[in-house]
Amino acid sequence: MQPDQTHIALLPSAGMGHLTPFLRLADLLVRRHCRVTLITTHPIVSLAESRLVSCFLSAFPQVTQLQFHLLPLDPSTVKHSTDPFFIQYETIRRSAHLLSPLLATLSPPLHALVYDALLISSIIPVTETLHFSNYIIFPSSARMLSFYSYFPTFASKSGDAPAMPCDVEIPGLTPIPRSSIPPLLFIPDSLFAKIFMEDSRKVAKLNGVLVNTFEGLEAQSLEVLTGRKLLEGMPSVFVVGPLPPCEFERGECGDQLKWLDEQPARSVVYVSFGSRTAMSRDQIREVGEGLVKSGCRFLWVIKDKKVDKEEEEGLDEVVGHELMERMEAKGLVVKKWVDQPQILGHNSVGGFVSHCGWNSVTEAAWYGVPILAWPQGGDQKINAEVVEASGVGMWVTSWGEEVVVKGDEIGGRIREMMGSELLRGKVAEIREKARKASGDGGSIEITFKRLIEEWKKSN
Ligand code: UDP
Ligand code: UDP
Repeated sequence: MQPDQTHIALLPSAGMGHLTPFLRLADLLVRRHCRVTLITTHPIVSLAESRLVSCFLSAFPQVTQLQFHLLPLDPSTVKHSTDPFFIQYETIRRSAHLLSPLLATLSPPLHALVYDALLISSIIPVTETLHFSNYIIFPSSARMLSFYSYFPTFASKSGDAPAMPCDVEIPGLTPIPRSSIPPLLFIPDSLFAKIFMEDSRKVAKLNGVLVNTFEGLEAQSLEVLTGRKLLEGMPSVFVVGPLPPCEFERGECGDQLKWLDEQPARSVVYVSFGSRTAMSRDQIREVGEGLVKSGCRFLWVIKDKKVDKEEEEGLDEVVGHELMERMEAKGLVVKKWVDQPQILGHNSVGGFVSHCGWNSVTEAAWYGVPILAWPQGGDQKINAEVVEASGVGMWVTSWGEEVVVKGDEIGGRIREMMGSELLRGKVAEIREKARKASGDGGSIEITFKRLIEEWKKSN
């Protein structure tokens, strides 16, 4: 290691949506000559995560892997959650004390630990003991970060359930309607609400927050956050986005690319609800009907189970043979992992039906593909507000995970999105801003310089 090299350890939590920004950040840090230690948790929940970690480590042999073996957790001690990803958050949190001896032995010593926002309360004691600087990646929108940081000021604790106002009025921001608040925050005693309440109170103890967004997408929230107007003691917010998709992420998707090559420019609607959202069978079939009715060409990725290891049934069983046959003429339907950045970057893709996981939104902005937002749970409605307000896409607010949306309606909205010149123009402008932010002399370069300087001074 060179004498003035900055040494950073990265600790993601569970799920592709959390892992991906860490690995993209690591790529940029290595390119800026930082020394990176990647802390990998064992066991890991999904195959997609294991594969991505392996691809990353093969691409970057100079990165040190630090294996973090988690204490087994008895799921019966976790209230109101059967979601394997949520259980993994809690497992990491309860194992966090084991990190101290591991990190203490790292040589040369760390300048900073950058970890996932869902681990704040459990990691702060570790960084305090070891005197490391303490940064998080907030793996969602700046609008969601504003909501999160402001949460303790409006959600008074009544019993175990956060008491919430009708709409959330955050100074400087368009109000967040009650209907956009993550549904689990209304469930008393849920693991998510517990972590959210516990950790959002500790934001002021962080040295900094990294967020994967950019001015061209979220000017309003960023003004509030970077101006530190939101709350007293708000740490520095580092606007590191858009974190561009990287070479090491490239997966095998020859069949899909070959099919896309045969379609006219911008004629295909790509449909995916991310890495961990399983739809009901009824809704899956209505989506299929909607795609047929839209009259558009389509590439549809189906997920039937939350965790990829559990996907067993074939397309015919999930979608039905008759509908599969009707879809053949215009569409390609798959039930496996796809390389989403390559698909969004293909010039025959002209629209994206998305659940608005934040990585998907930033990838659509990066490639200039309009979104038809169909948020399901979690932070997705708040992200969909950003999609709509920025012009990256349109959002039908009555669609959610609570009701089955009918094929007729889905088909109509897909046609509307695919035919909108207005959206296409707006998203092209945002794409330009994204490219400018990541180009020479752009905001990413400036932010990284500031961040690395700050890290160097901290040790
Ligand atoms: N993704 C992918 N192929 C798939 C499903 C997902 O490449 O078949 C990627 C997608 O590009 C994104 C990430 O997985 O980078 C999913 O993160 P996001 O925040 O969009 O949603 P989540 O899966 O966390 O709900
Ligand atoms: N906790 C933690 N690290 C630990 C032990 C506990 O972060 O090593 C946190 C975690 O959020 C947990 C809470 O403290 O849910 C209470 O822990 P306990 O083991 O008492 O679980 P509970 O009674 O809430 O099921």
